[in-house]
Amino acid sequence: MTDDILTAAPSPARPRGHSPIRRFASVICHLSFVILLAGCATRPTFRTVVVDPGHGGHDPGENQRGVLPEKIWTLDLAYRLKSRLEQAGFNVVMTRQSDVYIPLQNRVLISNSQPNVIFVSLHFNGTPNRKIQGLETYYDTRRSAKLAAKVQQSILLLPGVVDRRIKTAPYFVIRYNANPAILVEGGFLSNPIESRRIASPVYRDLLAEQIYQGIVAYRGRTPLQENQAAKTATR
Ligand SMILES: [Zn+2]
Repeated sequence: MTDDILTAAPSPARPRGHSPIRRFASVICHLSFVILLAGCATRPTFRTVVVDPGHGGHDPGENQRGVLPEKIWTLDLAYRLKSRLEQAGFNVVMTRQSDVYIPLQNRVLISNSQPNVIFVSLHFNGTPNRKIQGLETYYDTRRSAKLAAKVQQSILLLPGVVDRRIKTAPYFVIRYNANPAILVEGGFLSNPIESRRIASPVYRDLLAEQIYQGIVAYRGRTPLQENQAAKTATR
């Protein structure tokens, strides 16, 4: 393929009339190279974020003694994230707005019914080993890897948190998602230090802020900044 690109302009020394198939292949090769370059340079343009507060209703999620269940914290975090995103000009669609059970298929449908959105599922972790702590971000498709990396990088800026890295896992809401989709685990409710942290509105505020910053880092700039730039350009 490289040869064809390098010899795109037919040199006079070259015998004329080499096969049309070869010329056709050369053009195709050229086009795909240009498309590839354009693809690399294109920044995400989504203006809608589907925020998915994990669990709800009869599904409490992690339910440790002495701490409110996961479903309460994920909804609270979702609202904190929503208000930041909206202030920056994003349109936010929540998969649930109250303590109700929404089947996983329906959550994915909300995302898949729109062409250019990202999907961010919010969770808190739990495990029988109470010593385990840390933050992790899951993705399942290649198109979601960069978003996962940016958000994980950003939430690690929170003071005193442990990095459990980005990981792949076939969780339903990210596996069957047609858009870039991640699942953020914002700490372990089974760990005494982290469950105290999660119960603090200050921590949930900071966590929402860092998830927001990760989304903006992935996109390059906010829709609001984009609108302002467009206005300045037309002046
Ligand atoms: Zn969960």
